[in-house]
Amino acid sequence: MSSGTSLEPAEAQPRTPALADEAVTDDMGVRAQRWAWPALPEAQRTTLLDVLVHGNRSRAELARRSGLSRASLSRVTRRLVDAGLVREAGAPPLEGRGRPSEMIEIVPEAARFIGFKLTGDSLYAAVVDLGANVLHSEGQPLVTKVVGDVVTLIEQVVDRLREQFSRVAAVGVCLAGDVRFEDRHAVVVGSAFLGWDEVPLETLLARATGLPVAVSNDVQALTTAHHWFGAGVGASSLAVIGLGAGIGCGIVVDGELVKGAHGHPAKVGHLPVTSEGPRCDMGHVGCASAYVTIPAILRNTGGAGFWESLAAARGGDERADAAFRQAGTALGAVIAVLVNIVDPERVIVTGEGLAIAEYASDEMTTALAARLDPVSEAPAVQLRTFHFTDYAWGAAITAIRNLI
Ligand SMILES: [Zn+2]
Repeated sequence: MSSGTSLEPAEAQPRTPALADEAVTDDMGVRAQRWAWPALPEAQRTTLLDVLVHGNRSRAELARRSGLSRASLSRVTRRLVDAGLVREAGAPPLEGRGRPSEMIEIVPEAARFIGFKLTGDSLYAAVVDLGANVLHSEGQPLVTKVVGDVVTLIEQVVDRLREQFSRVAAVGVCLAGDVRFEDRHAVVVGSAFLGWDEVPLETLLARATGLPVAVSNDVQALTTAHHWFGAGVGASSLAVIGLGAGIGCGIVVDGELVKGAHGHPAKVGHLPVTSEGPRCDMGHVGCASAYVTIPAILRNTGGAGFWESLAAARGGDERADAAFRQAGTALGAVIAVLVNIVDPERVIVTGEGLAIAEYASDEMTTALAARLDPVSEAPAVQLRTFHFTDYAWGAAITAIRNLI
């Protein structure tokens, strides 16, 4: 499943000793690296973030948005240029009168981030640059779920990828499970797929890799990535629904990801949809998870696999067709609840089970309209093509966000 090394783009600058990030081990056995993400003062962080999230900006625009004087902004951008994180590009064509203002753009190769997605049986990895481009992706089976073994496996993959990619600044890991912050460190407070509970994964991995580590729920990570760089760019409120082994949801309100008080935000999986019908694996009758997850589709179609079930539905199998259509109705009901509560600008549906929404988009739209509050407005619902590296990409983007 590896895409190999051919995706590694030519280095923009030759690797010099100053840029090499060779791993070293100190006398305490703690691993560290020679190159590290520079510590940036607040004004530099804010400016970098503005260019990162909103694309190339002119100095004039940056000054206007930050409230800094042109002179202060010049100092801030000069330091970011010196750190190699942004560069000055040519001035845009002059419209009307006035002095042209140089454009500031991100240097994508300035830093790399390694993102991981952990499932119950696989470990996916993606190397992403500062411009959110995926440079490399790979996957391997997870042969053990023992925490120490998984930490060692991730450490080995990080070591190998750092041989291949210089300037790795941070690591991100996401998983199907809940994450709570204790003393500002992420703790996995529950993952049914991995059988983990109260695992201080961020601390364990930071110690093992010597790098800053961001740990998050997988759909939360994907939500951040779509908000910054994907289908949610420009939306100040957003809901992302991931269909797969379960149904997960991430919510952005007023530009911020909702994290919840206990690490369990946006739990839509067991929302009631019908008062009769199939049961989910928790025994609820007619909840969302009884219809709109891949395991529910298999139960309700009687099929051996998801794609076989979809093919059966397309081929006119009545039971399979009904299972997908009911799943579409359940999805519409879930979206209606989100819209009634959050009123998001945009809803993105993605994940391995996206084909449910594609097959039954009419049922989804009908159920959404039927369950909206009379004054609510139906949001734009986008069905977003899913790639197996998307969650690892999301984990890497979360690592960028945490670092800046
Ligand atoms: Zn349920």
